[in-house]
Formats: sequence, C-alpha cells, structure tokens
Amino acid sequence: MLTCGHCGRRLCVVYVGRRIGYHIYRCDRSKLMLARPRCMTTNGARTDVAVIEELLRAVEPLAIDAALEAERMHLEGEAQRRRMVELDLQQARYEASLAERRYAACDPDNRLIAAQPEKSWEATLRRVEACEARLNERQVRDDAAMPDFAGLAQDLKAA
Ligand SMILES: [Zn+2]
Repeated sequence: MLTCGHCGRRLCVVYVGRRIGYHIYRCDRSKLMLARPRCMTTNGARTDVAVIEELLRAVEPLAIDAALEAERMHLEGEAQRRRMVELDLQQARYEASLAERRYAACDPDNRLIAAQPEKSWEATLRRVEACEARLNERQVRDDAAMPDFAGLAQDLKAA
C-alpha cells in the first residue's frame, strides 16, 4: 500500500538479514524497468510504526463514536433484559394471587378438593421467589463494573 515519494510506484517489501531478519521498503521499479538507480530504501519497522500511529490518529474519533454507541447498546440491552425479568415477576405474582384466591374459595372441610389448589398456589409462590432471585442477580450484575468502552477507544494502541 505504500508508494514511492519520487515516482509514485508501489514500494516492495524486502526481507533482509541472515540471523535476525528484518524488513525494508524500497522502490525497485526504476532500477528493474529502466536500469536507473533505486529511488529509495527505508527502514521497515520505523515506517510501520509511523503508519500505525497515523492510522490510529485517523480512526480515533470514529472509535470514540463506536464506543459510545456500543455503550448505549449495552445499556439498552441490559434495560430490556431487566424489563423482561420484571414482567415475569409481575406475571408470577398475578398467578400466585389467583391461585391463592382459588385455594381460599375451597371448602376447607373437603381436603381432597383443597389439596390441588394448595399445590398450585405453592408452585406459583416458588415461581415468584425464582423471579425475585433472578431480579436480584440482575441488580448485582448491573451494580458491577460495566465494560470500559470509552477507555478502550481512547487507548486504541493498547487495544
Ligand atoms: Zn520510486
């Protein structure tokens, strides 16, 4: 992707060094095609660092926008999941109150008839407890540290 500052042609990557290999960028076209002296040769590692720094400088504003959008989507998803659990809890409480009324309406002297509504009522109460536990777990998770999206965007080099 790098081009020569003299002739505008693409630079070649050349790997050199016998023991510790390293790479350089150079423009061989004028030498190969026109038998002229080579336009340029440059240190590969330093050039790569300069390209990376320039790339990071260019994408940083976009990365910050992306981080803010990711944070917004994360919070929105969490709120939606919390709302689902709250709706489950609301439904479970409603079913428990219905089951309680059915049990209360039974003739207490007729144990055979009262046994089933009692079991249903107990089952709905267990569901209420399970929903409350899920809601508490979610609260604990919400209170825990949220991923640091903005920090990630501001420290792209480390990321
Ligand atoms: Zn050149």
